[in-house]
Amino acid sequence: MEHVKILLQESDLPTHWYNVVADMPNPPAPPLGPDGQPIGPDALAPIFPMAVIEQEVSRERWIPIPDEVRQALLMWRPSPMFRARNLERALGTPAKIYYKYEGVSPAGSHKPNTAIPQAYYNKLEGVTRLTTETGAGQWGSSIALAGRMFGLQVRVFMVKVSYQQKPFRRSMMETWGAEVFASPSIHTQAGRDALAKDPENPGSLGLAISEAVEEAASRADTKYSLGSVLNHVILHQTVVGLEAKRQMELVGEYPDVVIACCGGGSNFGGLAFPFLADKAAGRQVRLVAVEPTSCPTLTRGHYAYDFGDSAGLTPLLLTYTLGHDFIPPGIHAGGLRYHGDSPLVSQLVHEGILEAKAVAQLATFEAGILFARHEGIIPAPESNHAVRVAIDEALACKESGEPKVILFTLSGHGHFDMAAYDAYFAGKLQDYDYPEEALQEALQRLPKVPGRC
Ligand SMILES: *Cc1c(COP(=O)(O)O)cnc(C)c1O
Repeated sequence: MEHVKILLQESDLPTHWYNVVADMPNPPAPPLGPDGQPIGPDALAPIFPMAVIEQEVSRERWIPIPDEVRQALLMWRPSPMFRARNLERALGTPAKIYYKYEGVSPAGSHKPNTAIPQAYYNKLEGVTRLTTETGAGQWGSSIALAGRMFGLQVRVFMVKVSYQQKPFRRSMMETWGAEVFASPSIHTQAGRDALAKDPENPGSLGLAISEAVEEAASRADTKYSLGSVLNHVILHQTVVGLEAKRQMELVGEYPDVVIACCGGGSNFGGLAFPFLADKAAGRQVRLVAVEPTSCPTLTRGHYAYDFGDSAGLTPLLLTYTLGHDFIPPGIHAGGLRYHGDSPLVSQLVHEGILEAKAVAQLATFEAGILFARHEGIIPAPESNHAVRVAIDEALACKESGEPKVILFTLSGHGHFDMAAYDAYFAGKLQDYDYPEEALQEALQRLPKVPGRC
């Protein structure tokens, strides 16, 4: 028989996270405060535990994973890698397609890989409560799970339209014992102000972040937890790429191209950064981040200092951005609708070390359905972006006759996203292009940074 799955032992779970900063040609641009000066670690102390802040600014290549965290990750890790033989045959490609499957976590995506260590470090520093925001609920459910595992109370501010339209992820969070509030809520000043202006306010991710941060900053027992974008989050996600390298070794392969979808960048960085270490050492490997054409941050955004939230409360980060008040169209890949991106991913794209591609919504569903019909697993709409580009690469190999090795991550399963598939089958989905005028307008609204032009 031909092997299909490439499996690791529990003892193969990585012992260290990989910090890409050690292999970047230039140091990362620092986050800035409102005065245009780099902020120190103390500025983040009210909302993050010290261990996490240290990781955020660390330049060490390898950072040990605490035993308690490794123990908790064993609940589903190491995750499997598959060779997509059926898909290869269906495409008639000489390429070999491998995928790393992160849908095996209890929450169904890669996000618990960082939720677990974040909950652990908070617990260690005496924090008893965590707040966070969630859109469709992927992150909220991951932190609800992690909070449960380490005995922390979790309060999730869930964007009100999602709270009403996507009740099942809320049920998951409640099953794991988290409190879930529709945002804007009456529990914070930011929420009360928004409701006073408009009692029917449907909420937004930016507003939910403001609520979660406000509550964390105002209570000594409470800290805030973020599911993507920041350096420490990507660091925690590198278990994915480290395992993937090991799995490729087991079958005597090395990828020519590594592909992952990119929202805030943690899924992409988690897979790609451990391969970047080899690239920095001279190895040929392409690393491709995939985003939607409707929210084309890396492919068309401005590379500039901008806020992380719509209210402008966070430090300024140097990132590709569509403007912090950009509201992307309601595409079904909710996890890819962020206006900015990870500063690390952004800088490495800017320096030409990483590639970025944008793909249109209908083409991603077409790819995801083809994948499901040959490989079985129904991908999350976000993951369909990576599937699309993997298939395109395999089709290019069919043209050229090259037997390339393609690796991508299937970041999650789509079991809670079947309404999106329904809409696709009913012909109700459409492609959105991001208009050039909007790009120019966004440029006007970028924050002016004192001391920079
Ligand atoms: C959140 C999410 C993403 C986007 O993740 P980032 O790390 O922010 O880029 C991708 N896929 C799935 C399944 C997700 O839940």
